[in-house]
Amino acid sequence: VNTEGHLSVKPFGRWTEPGQEIDVHSVIVEALATQPNDSTSKSQFPMILRFPDVLKNRIETLHNAFNSAMESTGYTSRYQGVFPIKVNQNKYVVQDMVRFGQQWNYGLEAGSKPELLIAMSCLPVTEAEPKPYLICNGYKDADYIALALSARAMGLNPIIVLEMEEELAIVLDQYRKLQQKLPDDDAVRKKFEPIIGIRAKLLTKLPGHFGSTAGKHGKFGMLADQIYEVAETLGKEGKLHWLQLLHFHIGSMIPTTGKVYDAVSEAAGIYCNLVNEHGAKWLATLDCGGGLGVDYDGTRSGDSDMSVAYGIQEYASAVVQAVRLKCDYNGVAHPVVCTESGRAMASHHSMIILETLSAIPEPQDEDTSEQLLNRIQDLSYKQPRAPVGGATAAVYSHAADLKKHGIEMYKLGKKLGKRVVADANTVYNYHMNLSVFSLLPDFWGIGQLFPMMPVSRLNEEPTLKGTLVDITCDSDGKIENFISRENTLPLHLFEPSLGGYYVAVLVSGAYQEAIAGKHNLFSGPTLVRVNSSTTKDGGFEIERVDLGPAADEIIGSMRYSVEEDIITVIEKKAKGTEEEERVWAWEMVEPLMTKALTTMPYLNEYKVPEPEPE
Ligand code: PLP
Repeated sequence: VNTEGHLSVKPFGRWTEPGQEIDVHSVIVEALATQPNDSTSKSQFPMILRFPDVLKNRIETLHNAFNSAMESTGYTSRYQGVFPIKVNQNKYVVQDMVRFGQQWNYGLEAGSKPELLIAMSCLPVTEAEPKPYLICNGYKDADYIALALSARAMGLNPIIVLEMEEELAIVLDQYRKLQQKLPDDDAVRKKFEPIIGIRAKLLTKLPGHFGSTAGKHGKFGMLADQIYEVAETLGKEGKLHWLQLLHFHIGSMIPTTGKVYDAVSEAAGIYCNLVNEHGAKWLATLDCGGGLGVDYDGTRSGDSDMSVAYGIQEYASAVVQAVRLKCDYNGVAHPVVCTESGRAMASHHSMIILETLSAIPEPQDEDTSEQLLNRIQDLSYKQPRAPVGGATAAVYSHAADLKKHGIEMYKLGKKLGKRVVADANTVYNYHMNLSVFSLLPDFWGIGQLFPMMPVSRLNEEPTLKGTLVDITCDSDGKIENFISRENTLPLHLFEPSLGGYYVAVLVSGAYQEAIAGKHNLFSGPTLVRVNSSTTKDGGFEIERVDLGPAADEIIGSMRYSVEEDIITVIEKKAKGTEEEERVWAWEMVEPLMTKALTTMPYLNEYKVPEPEPE
């Protein structure tokens, strides 16, 4: 928070020079005034603000952590990082990863054919050794394997990681086919031999949501005995030199360094057995997959899927120590340590900005204060009249009636008193220009919590309790769980006269864009790329603004031809038959339809009109 009470970003972490802070509110204002690339429409909410310098900082921190863990323990090999494209496939994110990581040879991991194509286009072709790794994970068909082999022919360094024993037969078959296309020259043919890895299914399991990845019944990889069988088969084929990597991934968000240590130790044990007992002497890399976690709730407790009890340095030290000890014990040379850390690299560099449309107090189930007051008033009017004559029984009965009414009034009065206190607990539904399904799919799908906070007025106490309601027609489209484990978020009274009231969803740069759905045909947000600048006022420069998909693109993705199935059909219907000649209807429909098709489907310049004076 800066002196203006605005959320601010320090792209280089705590080592930022004084003053090098980016004011998020100023970025939003400038982004709204910036003409988006390749579009005549204006910038629109929701937005993702991306800070590439934060990515740079994360990559640097990761490499420094591994390098220092290796130096301080006398580790004799090196670290090789790869970014798993699945975490955020956005062109600028992947290109930034490769560019910022170039000095460390940072590679990429692909989990499918489209991701492999992205990796093949982004990684540099270089003669220099070592080449960045291109890890090919996921289930593979012949086309995937052939494509990976062709990447080697291009001069890249693909490593085909076998998920199942059956994939080896496909690799052998595709290799033979590729060889037939190569010149009859052994030296050339040798260059295009595949390098393969095997994915181990470890017994070390994680608790919680991500636990199903590993364990005996886990979905991925091979158990130790199957791995040794594959090594035997490779040996029989005379291809054991292809096997150069052992991979595992026990799941995202490993909660403690204890679990990290156990998993790496188990995998390093298999690695050593392969080398010592199965002749796999070309093995050179232990790929420890992803799992380096993000402490979303800031508790550093590691007691739920929202938290991990360590930082990057502790993670790196646990990995390096586990490999070193196991290899030293077994007399095996230290392998290259590879990790496929995704979440911890991409989360911090972007935030989602949500615009408040309105804030409405949630109706209470009980009577309203006004209803209670009315009933008290009714009771006092209905007091029984004093009996005439003063007979004792009648006086008693009158007294009893008075008592009954008195008690009822007392109870209602108490309830009313409570209500006055309860009003401070009123929950306000903040209607946000948001689709939970398109922007925060993990919140909806797996209950992932993200830190959220207002962007401005942070020097003013937020006194209201808010939930965030989205604009989809779905009761799941509501955010009422927060990292505080409260059901509401402290927010300020929404006063449109003060300008926009924005809520930032932080550390949201991993997986959300990749997994996003199209419920109600909402889709991606406006993307704003914000560079730090030491020369420009405010310390930042907006490099580019790209609108999210317009409605025509999203409708098109559902197999409609926008021209034939939507525009032409609506035009015909609006104009009616020749006898009807309702051209005036089409004139009304056409500009509105065009605007709706060419803008993002979120609410646009939302303002409730002032009521007409009576
Ligand atoms: N590697 C593999 C094989 C994965 O499946 C994943 C994600 O689930 C990752 C790496 C990235 O994991 P994380 O984002 O936890 O680092």
